Amino acid sequence: MGERLLVIEDEHRIAQFIERGLIYEGYRVEVTHDGRAGLTAARDNPPDLVILDWMLPGMDGLEVCKRLRSASNVPILMLTAKDDVSDRVQGLDAGADDYLVKPFSFDELLARIRALLRRSTVSSKPESLRFADLTLDTGTRRAMRGNRAIDLTAKEYELLELFMRNPRQVLTREMIFDRVWNYDFGGESNIIEVYVRYLRQKTESEGEPRLLHTVRGVGYVLREE
Ligand code: CA
Repeated sequence: MGERLLVIEDEHRIAQFIERGLIYEGYRVEVTHDGRAGLTAARDNPPDLVILDWMLPGMDGLEVCKRLRSASNVPILMLTAKDDVSDRVQGLDAGADDYLVKPFSFDELLARIRALLRRSTVSSKPESLRFADLTLDTGTRRAMRGNRAIDLTAKEYELLELFMRNPRQVLTREMIFDRVWNYDFGGESNIIEVYVRYLRQKTESEGEPRLLHTVRGVGYVLREE
């Protein structure tokens, strides 16, 4: 059985285009046309991934995203006609894992869905990754700093796992794009910076020493001071 995808999109033409294509690809699809109905659908029958339009009647996509995120780590792909950086950052702040700007090609939508699902279902043998006082359990996908539990979104988890599997190695932006986002997000995108900032906020919130360091002009490295 294919993964279950929830599409929350008020434009019926676009919703139908997405639904037909995804069903053809073997996914199970549920469609709702407004924010509140989408939120209810996600709670009643948790999907494997949510495709969420930004501009929605009832409750806008940003608010839906925040509420979904407060209750679950389900991957969220936002659709938006807005394409400026502050809007993207707003969406990422709300907990979206990825973005697609309208109009988009169906192939690109598929590629991003596959990448998000692959990342959220990578379930090789669970192991506990450890670096300094940071641990990451690949089975439960929970992170701990010392005795403090850290909640991660799907993308934050992927990024942290990449660093934990490559400690003390400088990871270039290109490498991170390739491994975590798995496609070309666009050269000017600041998505890595945004996610590194989230990880730092979460891993240093009690004033712990920084582990995720910037290597200016190159990328990032997980190391102790
Ligand atoms: Ca809309």
